[in-house]
Amino acid sequence: MKIFREALALSQFLTHQRRLGSTIGFVPTMGALHQGHASLIHRSNAENDLTVVSIFVNPLQFNSPDDLAKYPITTEDDIALLQGINTSVLFLPSREEIYPNNPLIKISFGYLEDIMEGKFRPGHFQGVGMVVAKLLHIVHPDRVYFGQKDLQQCAVIRSMMADLSFMCQMVTVPTVREHDGLAMSSRNLRLSGLQRLNANRIFQALKRAQAMLLEEATVSEAIQFIDNFFKEDDILNLEYFQIVDSETLLAIDKVTSRQASLCMAVHAGSIRLIDNIFLYDSL
Ligand code: AMP
Repeated sequence: MKIFREALALSQFLTHQRRLGSTIGFVPTMGALHQGHASLIHRSNAENDLTVVSIFVNPLQFNSPDDLAKYPITTEDDIALLQGINTSVLFLPSREEIYPNNPLIKISFGYLEDIMEGKFRPGHFQGVGMVVAKLLHIVHPDRVYFGQKDLQQCAVIRSMMADLSFMCQMVTVPTVREHDGLAMSSRNLRLSGLQRLNANRIFQALKRAQAMLLEEATVSEAIQFIDNFFKEDDILNLEYFQIVDSETLLAIDKVTSRQASLCMAVHAGSIRLIDNIFLYDSL
């Protein structure tokens, strides 16, 4: 695996590979890699000649300085994981390499910034948009891979790529879960034993609400059920639960034949966990 720390050197290498006829897949990450990230890399390896993974903890997308300070950094383990799954190239830039100046431009996403994650994490998606735009310009991939776990991030990036004509295909990869259903996340490393034990209730709640909706419960009944499910919980605090159109992410008050998503954010102490499932995912 080749490791690049400088954008120019990476870009020159990839230009050469492209001239040789290689297609390039790109998996942007913030490190603390797990099997969720690995599934994106496997998918990219299957669809491209060469896979570039980036690890960059993007300060612009953290709305809480404490969350940024506590974000796990496990670079040696990450490199070992990447070497084990045939990653061709790792891009490991410094903060100065990505942000030599504070960017003056802002990328905003209209209503997508006012709902769900956007509402609770002001500025988060502007930061995501900025770093993904920069990384796509540096790597210039044929395909870029994102996880369904961050459903709203997928919607934001899809709209940025369409609105700014990025000539690259976006691929969304299903969420990889622990054995008890908890969505894999770098933030899971920060859960205490008790929090970790209880965190699988997030997926359980989503599945129960899904089953209710498929048995013709109304959207408001499902929302009421989820409110009650977490009401007595001393470990997990529900931040939001929404049933939304999977394309637009706008809340719906009735499920129809269009794909709907059940989306949730929960706090375990100071750790914020998100998850979602599609209504028509297998039960
Ligand atoms: P992150 O390092 O958290 O920024 O995540 C990098 C990429 O991996 C994003 O596209 C995430 O959506 C994706 N990802 C994170 N966790 C999972 C998971 N459990 N399953 C699938 N993809 C994931």
